[in-house]
Amino acid sequence: MIYRKLGNTGFNISALGLGAMRLPEYEKEGKWYMDEDECIDIIHHAFKKGINYIDTAWPYSHENNQYIVGKAIKGYKDKVKVSTKVPMWNVEREDDFWYYLEEQLRRLDVDCIDFFHLHSLDNGSFENKVLKLNVLENMEKAKQKGLIAHKCFSFHDKPEIMKKIIDTGAFETVLCQYNLLDRSNEDAIEYARSKGLGVIVMGPVAGGRLAAPSDTLKKLLPNAKDTPEIALRFVLGNKNVSCALSGMTSKAMVDENVETAARCNEELSSEEWKKISDTLEQIKELSRLYCTGCDYCQPCPMGIQISKIFLLYNFHKVYGLTQYAKEEFAKLLSEAEGDPQSCIQCGECAKKCPQSIPVPEKLKQAAALLKTIQH
Ligand code: SF4
Ligand code: SF4
Repeated sequence: MIYRKLGNTGFNISALGLGAMRLPEYEKEGKWYMDEDECIDIIHHAFKKGINYIDTAWPYSHENNQYIVGKAIKGYKDKVKVSTKVPMWNVEREDDFWYYLEEQLRRLDVDCIDFFHLHSLDNGSFENKVLKLNVLENMEKAKQKGLIAHKCFSFHDKPEIMKKIIDTGAFETVLCQYNLLDRSNEDAIEYARSKGLGVIVMGPVAGGRLAAPSDTLKKLLPNAKDTPEIALRFVLGNKNVSCALSGMTSKAMVDENVETAARCNEELSSEEWKKISDTLEQIKELSRLYCTGCDYCQPCPMGIQISKIFLLYNFHKVYGLTQYAKEEFAKLLSEAEGDPQSCIQCGECAKKCPQSIPVPEKLKQAAALLKTIQH
């Protein structure tokens, strides 16, 4: 396992972090449960393989996740750091911050939470909750009291909002989305590092999309074994990223991810980085020319998910993620409405498209192509 400095926190984090959100759970008579022994076995397996960061959150596994993580970290407290998050969508009053902190200390059964995040900040929650309800001040108080070790945020908004939040100077790490298919946070990540924050990336394989084989992406790093390796090497090849979080569901998956991470033990050379960047830019331009996903063309009277079909077309045609496009298109066709063949050529979508895409015509072509890969 490779370890990297996590910003100015003083912690050397494993390049691969364990996302606890996908630990196995099951439903019985309308209630959700986790098999404690199985989950703890997976977590301990990850720790033994050198992973030293585990990420949980209030809502994970129908709110059962933190109890399991709390039990699993017993005996590992000097080696492993735990991260959890305040569910900002539930925070309505200033006291709520303390409620969620104290309750999570209880659920995790710890005296101090190592990395305490404000969960899923965007501009709205930052302006209306963090600033108005004195969350930053209370976070600092919690740190002074020794109830949390590091002040962090996770993030889902535009990169300029991430920079604005970083500029408060209140945070030590940021958890954000970044992968081969979505590089929108790349500059903000660099900015975060320049301000001394540690950067942890979620979604390195783009929600499973980069788990599928792709001949196009294979060309980016010909010596890589498969697409997940390319995806992880891309994320960890960015020197501003300290750790890639991966949600793991089994010991076999831990083994596979650890093995992949071990092959990502070098930052990409500036030559490799440039080649990947240039190629991705060209690929991105190709997709941009096609459809930006803005959805201004909606609603379609026939319920056709136009941008989704164009996106799948791009995944197949531009990124070579044919298997993924095939499966998702099959799912889309099995839904009650939205078959692109139901288009009545009303032309409403094309009138609203800022890219001047002749939507009905392109839709027909995209659907025809996606149908050909179904067999
Ligand atoms: S032309 Fe077809 S896709 Fe466009 S809005 Fe009309 S029915 Fe929907
Ligand atoms: S309006 Fe045009 S660019 Fe936007 S999602 Fe629809 S087709 Fe794509």
